[in-house]
Formats: sequence, C-alpha cells, structure tokens
Amino acid sequence: KNTTGVTVIGLGPMGQAITRSLLQKGISVTVWNRTASKADDLVAAGALRAATVADALQANELVLLSLTHYQAMYDILQPAAQALAGKVLVNLSSDTPEKAREAAVWAAANGAQFLAGGIMVTPQQVGHPGSFAFFSGPQELFEAHQPILSIIGDTDYRGSDPGLAPLYYQALLDIMFTSVAGIMHGMALIKSANIPAATFAPYVDNFLVFLRQLVSDLQMAQEADKGSYDGSHNNMLMMTAGIHHITDASADAGVNTSLPAAVKDIFDRTVAKGHGKDGLASIFEVLRQKD
Ligand code: NDP
Repeated sequence: KNTTGVTVIGLGPMGQAITRSLLQKGISVTVWNRTASKADDLVAAGALRAATVADALQANELVLLSLTHYQAMYDILQPAAQALAGKVLVNLSSDTPEKAREAAVWAAANGAQFLAGGIMVTPQQVGHPGSFAFFSGPQELFEAHQPILSIIGDTDYRGSDPGLAPLYYQALLDIMFTSVAGIMHGMALIKSANIPAATFAPYVDNFLVFLRQLVSDLQMAQEADKGSYDGSHNNMLMMTAGIHHITDASADAGVNTSLPAAVKDIFDRTVAKGHGKDGLASIFEVLRQKD
C-alpha cells in the first residue's frame, strides 16, 4: 500500500485535470476509467494504469472519484468492495447532500472512510491559482489528506456532515445555472428582434456590475435571515408587474416563456403571501418552502 500516491477513478475532463495537477507536483497517480482509452494520454504523462478496479484500490490508500453522479461510484466500486477496507474515498462527483450522507454510511460498512468534495472551477483552472473545492466529512480525515487535496485547489472544509460540501456546491451551481438561463433568455429576446446577441453583450456586462452591487452589500442575505425586507425604494407589486411584462413580451416575440413564467409564479405567490410592499428579497419567503 502506497501512502503517498493517489488513485483517481473517473477520467472525464475533470478527472484528467485532477490527475495532471497531481502528476505535475510529482505525486504518483494510479488511474482507472470505465472507458480505458481515456487513460492513454495520462499514462504517457506518467500515470500508472490499473488493469482492474481492485488493482486501482490496492495501489493507494487515498482514492479520488470524479464521476457523473454517485450511482457511478457504486457501479464501479461495489463489484470490488472487498478491496475497500482501509481506503479513504474522496468523492468529487456532483450529487445531492443526501447521496453523500448515504455514501459515508456505505463506505463505513465496507471498512472505508469517506469525504465528499465539490470542485468549483473548470478543468482548465484545476491546479492553478483561484481553483477551489468544498469538502465535508470527518475533520481529522480531511486534515490528514488536505496537503494532497490542496494541489487540486484551495480547500474549503465546511464541516463533519458529509452533505455539506454537496450542499454548498449545489447552491452555487443553482446560481450559475439559473443566472445563465436568465442571461440567455435576455439574449433570446434581443435576437427575436433580429439584433445579434453580441450587440447585447456589453449591456449584460454592465448589468452584472449592477447585480453585483445589488447582492454584495449582503443586505439581501441579512434581510433573509431576519425575515424583513425593505421595500421603500422598489416593492414586489411594482416588480411583479415587471415580470408579467417580461413574460408577455416573450410570448409576443415567440420566445420561450418557461423561465419568466416560473419567476412570475414565484413573484405572484410572494405578493399573495402579503409581501406586496416588501422588497425583492422577500421572494425568499416563497423559495425557502416546498412547492
Ligand atoms: P464527465 O461526465 O465527462 O465524466 C464522467 C466520468 O464518469 C467518466 O469517467 C465516465 O466514464 C464516468 N462514469 C459515468 N457513469 C459511469 C458509470 N455508470 N460507470 C462507470 N463510470 C461512469 O464529467 P466531468 O469529468 O466533466 O466531471 C466529473 C465531475 O466533476 C462531475 O460530477 C461534475 O459535476 C464535476 N465538475 C465538473 C466540472 C467541469 O467543468 N467539467 C466543473 C466542476 C465540477 P466513461 O469515460 O467510461 O464514460
């Protein structure tokens, strides 16, 4: 058993980037991937190819997983479960906090220890300044392996509940996906008037500065924590009229309405809950509850 080397299972763009960042620091890396050919370039760069999953597990104590979801981890590791005893599994794959908690229990039942992780940058950024990842699970276990994990990027340990790294990961990706959807929808509106989306790009860029101001003084987060929302400058009644106009304008233009319609529904419900004179952050009162 090698205590300084690392095994990486899952060689999509992210697993390949992780492997390269470790190799560049002189770490011995053993790799395995379902589609074996994805290891070829890494082996040429110095990685060791494991012929089987069991071999990959036996090679090192520390095993990093970079897969599409947690089910892939079970698909790969379950048939080699007898080789899991004594291993430290660090799952850097996306999935729900609940899946991470279940995985920690499953790992323990197989004699392995478990950390959940979430890498918050693109494969191109991995191993470079600015790269960072969330981790959660037993603190001592995290601290013992932090020096190796920090090669991927800055480590941000969120706590002993294994679900916390996926929680932070999902919450940030939630923002990315919904924000980009909003930006692309705005571009679709512009394009519907036969104006190139690129013409709109500088306006988006400027508007992001405004959005940053809107959220960066933390007032919205503080209002959400207090449950009281200043509506003295702009209130939900005015903004609900606004989102209705956006939905109507989209329909008029023959543009997809599902995104503004979803936001319209949230605004309508916020007003119905009595927040018409409150500020925009009061939509939190609808969003924080189950549909
Ligand atoms: P990919 O989906 O491209 O890679 C998936 C990997 O999972 C491949 O190695 C694939 O094997 C393997 N896999 C999927 N299903 C199975 C299965 N049932 N059995 C065995 N192997 C399976 O993902 P990325 O490399 O892009 O990302 C990996 C993780 O990192 C994801 O959870 C992603 O959310 C996260 N991430 C990715 C970022 C990115 O920009 N790419 C950014 C931040 C996080 P095979 O090659 O055989 O198909």
